[in-house]
Amino acid sequence: MSALINFSYIVAAILFIFGLKMLSSADTARRGNMVSATGMLIAILATLLSEGMSYHWILVGLLVGGSIGAFAAKTVKMTSMPEMVALFNGFGGIASLLVGWAEFHAHRGSATFTLVAIALAVLIGGITFSGSLIAYAKLAEKMDGKPLLFSGQQVVNAGLLAAAVLFIILFAASGNAYGILIALIFLALALGVLAVIPIGGADMPVVIALLNSYSGLAACAAGFVILNNVLIVAGALVGASGLILTTIMCKAMNRSLANVLFSGFGSAQSGATAGYQGEARPVSVDDAYYILEAARSVVFVPGYGMAVAQAQHVVRELGELLEANGAEVKYAIHPVAGRMPGHMNVLLAEASVPYEQLVVPEDVNPIMSTVDVAIVIGANDVVNPAAREDENSPLWGMPIINVDHARTCIVCKRSLNPGFAGVDNPLFFKENNRMLFGDAKKSFQGLVAAFKDG
Ligand code: NDP
Repeated sequence: MSALINFSYIVAAILFIFGLKMLSSADTARRGNMVSATGMLIAILATLLSEGMSYHWILVGLLVGGSIGAFAAKTVKMTSMPEMVALFNGFGGIASLLVGWAEFHAHRGSATFTLVAIALAVLIGGITFSGSLIAYAKLAEKMDGKPLLFSGQQVVNAGLLAAAVLFIILFAASGNAYGILIALIFLALALGVLAVIPIGGADMPVVIALLNSYSGLAACAAGFVILNNVLIVAGALVGASGLILTTIMCKAMNRSLANVLFSGFGSAQSGATAGYQGEARPVSVDDAYYILEAARSVVFVPGYGMAVAQAQHVVRELGELLEANGAEVKYAIHPVAGRMPGHMNVLLAEASVPYEQLVVPEDVNPIMSTVDVAIVIGANDVVNPAAREDENSPLWGMPIINVDHARTCIVCKRSLNPGFAGVDNPLFFKENNRMLFGDAKKSFQGLVAAFKDG
């Protein structure tokens, strides 16, 4: 029986790896999800068939957790997905913490290896749990999203981390010190809070990716606690892929991870950046139609506002009309556009925008000066030229999509207000820029109607 269960775990692990690989391309992503989910089903069934299971508690957990999960997934708004992801990471963390804690009670006086695994599951799980709750509160605007800094913060954090390492050593050496385990739990929860409060603003995507990685590492440690191979493999995969995503996010913002975690970036907007002067030129839907009608090449740049307005379908419709009118149409996606990794890709895929029309900043920026119209749909930070032009800007150095290099740029948003990072945008005052004020969906519906009426 145990050979069959272990064989099932290997099959599950292989399916996870293939599923992950398939997620890297839009064509195969859906199937990749199904492949991974099948792997998980096999892993769960194999675990349930292991000896010594008592099914009634599992059934209760399945019913309660399943109902809450199904309800949350059904009701969550697309724009609130990042908060939901943050919560899910947190629940992964607390689950690993509880596994470690419960296992300590079940097998008091375990071997040093198990005790170290328990301590790590509790530490990483606790950090992930409280850190994710803070990330959730920041993203859901239940607390101030700005970095919260105090003097000596990094010394305090380093001190707590050193104390945690010391507790792990003492716990493993003592063999049975329940008090140390409880102290470690409190320490982990405090560390999670203190590690995330100094991060805010535009750095939040990195934190979410990092917490996702931590939740995997915590699960991996829990896997070593209960010696479950598939949990070790799945946890390691989540840990590694979360770390890769974290690196991609850091690169997208041209920052090092250490800088994101410790610098408290964006806690205050510098005087030099606040309040760019100039005249923003509004454009009506009709005039925007004439500009677009004459264009031979158009680049759409979607951002968070497109998600808020749920404008992706009407954007695709306009794209098709422009193509029918003889224009070449592309959609430029910035890696941190929106509020979660891949946010814009998901929305555009939902609206059936052909994958071949999606381009990344590195590919579109070099040809931007040949583009007739760049049309920005509810994006702000990811097209802010201050990142290129103003050394004092909190966004300085972040690669952006250079829409201001297009012959004409049209920015569709409701006001001149800043985006997530809270940084003013000089793009609005550029000579070649026009502001199409209003809700993105309504404006684009107007443009589509204008094209249809000719
Ligand atoms: P921004 O947050 O910079 O800007 C979004 C803009 O959308 C706002 O300025 C707003 O302007 C406009 N908007 C809101 N509602 C509407 C509407 N109904 N119609 C039209 N416009 C609307 O978004 P970007 O996508 O450019 O940048 C993403 C930012 O979020 C970056 O700073 C990134 O670091 C951060 N972030 C990204 C995450 C990720 O994983 N992708 C996660 C967490 C944060 P107005 O109010 O004037 O309409």
